[in-house]
Amino acid sequence: MSDDILKLSATELSCAVRERRLGALEVLKAYIKRAEKNKYNSFITICSEEAEMTASRIDCMSKSELVNLPLAGIPISIKDNICTKGIKTTCASRMLENFIPSYSASVYEKILAAGAVPIGKTNMDEFAIGADGTTSAFGMTLNPHDTERSPGGSSSGSAASVAAGEALLSLGSDTGGSARLPAAFCGVSALKPTYGSVSRFGLTGLAPSLEQICPISRDIRDCALLYSVICGKDERDMTTLYSQGKKYGVSDTETLKGMRIGSIPGLGCDKRLFALLEESGANVSETRLPMIDTIPEIYYAISSAEASSTLARYDGLRYGFSSAMGTVEGTRNEGFGTKVKERLAQGAYVLTYDNGKIYVSALEVQRRLRKNTDYLFEKFDIILTPVSDITAPSLNDTRRIGEDTTGSDKFTAYANLTGIPAVVIPSGDKNKLPVGIQLTAKHGEEEKLCRTAYALERIFKTHQNNIMSTDV
Ligand code: GLN
Repeated sequence: MSDDILKLSATELSCAVRERRLGALEVLKAYIKRAEKNKYNSFITICSEEAEMTASRIDCMSKSELVNLPLAGIPISIKDNICTKGIKTTCASRMLENFIPSYSASVYEKILAAGAVPIGKTNMDEFAIGADGTTSAFGMTLNPHDTERSPGGSSSGSAASVAAGEALLSLGSDTGGSARLPAAFCGVSALKPTYGSVSRFGLTGLAPSLEQICPISRDIRDCALLYSVICGKDERDMTTLYSQGKKYGVSDTETLKGMRIGSIPGLGCDKRLFALLEESGANVSETRLPMIDTIPEIYYAISSAEASSTLARYDGLRYGFSSAMGTVEGTRNEGFGTKVKERLAQGAYVLTYDNGKIYVSALEVQRRLRKNTDYLFEKFDIILTPVSDITAPSLNDTRRIGEDTTGSDKFTAYANLTGIPAVVIPSGDKNKLPVGIQLTAKHGEEEKLCRTAYALERIFKTHQNNIMSTDV
């Protein structure tokens, strides 16, 4: 029975719990067993007792109460930079090793109110800086497809927990690709919503003007389900835009009829993919993303500048780790890992060199990028791009994925710099490792994006042996 439970999607499983065909505790048992083994080090904290209490509460509810719970009984994992009242939230850093927040992030309150069962806090790159899941102060996360390889980062544990069947849904965060890259490396789906559509209240910030909290799941329909629960205006986050209550469902009858799809050159298997898309009713043509080669420079200038300001609060005086030396310098030196310190130094340089000229220029290029992107989406509904130019790298490979010269995160960071929504879905594999494809749309078009991704997911599933890779 527990194997059957693991096969159900969140959409199917929540329906079964609402209709009392399955109990939340029964579902939890199937997942928590695997989570507790923590075979891939996906979790920093596992909340077995709290999860059991939440699941029991759901099982005591009447059918009329259950009807209003879109995530009834769904085991969900949460990235450890999202505050959870009474549960440790470490950001995978010594700096916050013993930090127990006194309040919860808005998204956490929302998923609880929707009937989800949080089972643990996931491992990540320290303070969400990184792209390979190796910089956590609590050990690296392993890729469930091949434990010698990186699962991608920074939301490494979120993607790994979903891929390994330790959680059915997960909440990650994405400043430059941190939910989408691990989704691609682990063979699962992720949605980076339009900037401002999901509250960041209670997310431990890295670069607040770029990041969003993101659903991660096995398929895009479940991402849309979770997105419907967490999106919406929040008084506690002034950047939130939309009003609540909109449902982002996708149905089995999705087609691509009339959809104007742009594909960037070098996506791989273009001809076959194009033919299948056109068969489904889409008009496909090649296009280019504006200023794409400038993305890594602008992204790292803006994000490191913001990070150096956001992380300035960790001084050992108010909360978190405090060095025995009794100095701010000592606290920051001992509390932060090497990669975080490097990023903070980079940010300080960007903000101070020549009176902040680098930062101001980066903002100007970002403004132009946004304008050009608006023009592009007058011509296309959806644009397809690769996620990265590599598959999950070996853990022995010391190459720095996120910051190498090939700019393997340029396609993902593009969506953060422009604020547009983007999804990643699995598109096949290459040398037995998962490969993902990215779809982007203009601001606020999550519904179109999820519908198209769902139709595409079915094309990939049906033609799994034909369309295997994004060979960039
Ligand atoms: N690799 C990027 C970085 O290191 C992405 C981080 C993120 O999205 N949180 O900044």
